Amino acid sequence: MFKKDILEFAAKLNEMFPDAKTELYYNNEFQLLIAILMSAQATDKQVNIVNRNFFNFLITPEDGVKMDTDYIKEFINSISFFNNKAVNIKKTCDILVKEHNSQIPRTIEELVKLPGVWIKTAKVFLAVIEDAPYIWVDTHVHRVLNRLWLVNTKSPLETDKKISKWFTKENHGMLHNTLVLFGRYHCIARKPKCETCPFVEKCKHYKKVISKS
Ligand code: SF4
Repeated sequence: MFKKDILEFAAKLNEMFPDAKTELYYNNEFQLLIAILMSAQATDKQVNIVNRNFFNFLITPEDGVKMDTDYIKEFINSISFFNNKAVNIKKTCDILVKEHNSQIPRTIEELVKLPGVWIKTAKVFLAVIEDAPYIWVDTHVHRVLNRLWLVNTKSPLETDKKISKWFTKENHGMLHNTLVLFGRYHCIARKPKCETCPFVEKCKHYKKVISKS
């Protein structure tokens, strides 16, 4: 029964966002990895503004090897934690060139060895590049799943652990993208669009809070 629920949930989200894809700006796999690394604690919008210029210069890991860290900081200094991120971008480029022949690794285990690449970064990268069955549980996804009938968890990490057991290649579809877009544009934190929500009948938050306000 629960599996059927998940399949229907995923199918409805796909209907709402048929062209769902990451909103990060990138032109190749390497730039995607760097964009995801930069998006920690920053919005996609902020990262895209920076990268539309930065990525004219950082096209391959070799380009990063030739840049010094201060030069990278000049490009990305409007992004939160830019000092750390610049150091990590530089080190990641060095490692990619020296140890991976400038190719991006394709497993979580290898990806998380790159500086600044956390498990979430690796999951998003693989989900976008290979449609791997991973979902990035950010604050939006955590909020949405808890408002609905699907989980009852205290943190994005706890939600991530819980849902990783449900989703497989067979049933996740484009869920990693559609869930983020649903949280970002429909089930918005302050003003969820419940009047046009296909999940209103099952939604805990609607029953407990919205319908009574
Ligand atoms: S009914 Fe409202 S609160 Fe519930 S998931 Fe839909 S938009 Fe969000």
